[in-house]
Amino acid sequence: MSPGALSLLPMQKMKEIRAILDSIEAHPRKRFGQCFLIDLQLMEKVVEMGMRNISPDSTVLEVGPGTGSLTEELLARAKKVVAVEIDRDLGKYLETAHKDNPDFTLIIGDALGSKSTINPDVLAAVAPEVHLVANLPYNIATPLIANCLIESWKSLTARGVRFSSLTFTVQQEVAQRFTAKPNTNDYGIVSVLIKILGEVQLGKVIPPGAFWPRPKIDSQLVRIDFVPEKAERLVNIEILQQLTRTFFTHRRKRIAATVKFRDSVFSRDQLDSALRATGINPDLRAAELSPEDYLKLANILSVNE
Ligand code: SAM
Repeated sequence: MSPGALSLLPMQKMKEIRAILDSIEAHPRKRFGQCFLIDLQLMEKVVEMGMRNISPDSTVLEVGPGTGSLTEELLARAKKVVAVEIDRDLGKYLETAHKDNPDFTLIIGDALGSKSTINPDVLAAVAPEVHLVANLPYNIATPLIANCLIESWKSLTARGVRFSSLTFTVQQEVAQRFTAKPNTNDYGIVSVLIKILGEVQLGKVIPPGAFWPRPKIDSQLVRIDFVPEKAERLVNIEILQQLTRTFFTHRRKRIAATVKFRDSVFSRDQLDSALRATGINPDLRAAELSPEDYLKLANILSVNE
């Protein structure tokens, strides 16, 4: 079957996905986290949550379109869909299947430019504002979501692209980390970042059987909305990142003691005076500070830089 003949298939079940992969002599690649969503009701939930309160004039970014099942649904609801796919065989298939569609832009490559950046070609294609909707590959979910939020903070001063909403499926344990509260083991750098810059909601838990091939663990649907009014309160995102990295790398130590490690960028004087100014107890551990505490400390450290 030619890619063109398969391109008009609506939401794909396992049979259709296998047919597409057979037609290009490919098979699911573990190293790219290829687990295709084959439960069409759950696919509908992803689209519903991702497109809620979003204008049909919007641009949507799909990271990892795979065989293009979710892509078709997004194309039916958004003005423009940009997709980035790392697998060259699937990329070539999608390129042919959608070659006559002016509303679809495909980038064949990595969604990440580096561990701490989004691929600049992706940013250029979605600027100035985009909504991400994706069934994410497990190995890039955390850096990708963190980088999209950091990029959105930069958009407050027109230096970045705004990811107004991010809706995606990830392993349930990652979803738990994204929504974790202080004083829990899951609470960490990304939970603080999300709370300072936006609002997060958990959606349905997705069992392994909803995917082919079956992953070992449950996944979950998550939506994060970037909230400019919250994000504007943060003076310098790099200081926040340095602060959370230093504290959480040594999460069992008193926060005041983290200055003695080589990876700390703050001097004892800087940290002591910031702790005094904010009234935060120096004997606390990283997980005992609220996102609001991190915001206050990062802002004081930015001013005293
Ligand atoms: N969208 C399809 C679906 O819902 O069934 C496939 C989702 S599958 C979990 C993840 C997809 O992301 C695969 O197509 C994989 O090749 C792609 N992928 C993996 N790592 C990537 C990266 N760094 N950048 C872009 N795409 C990536």
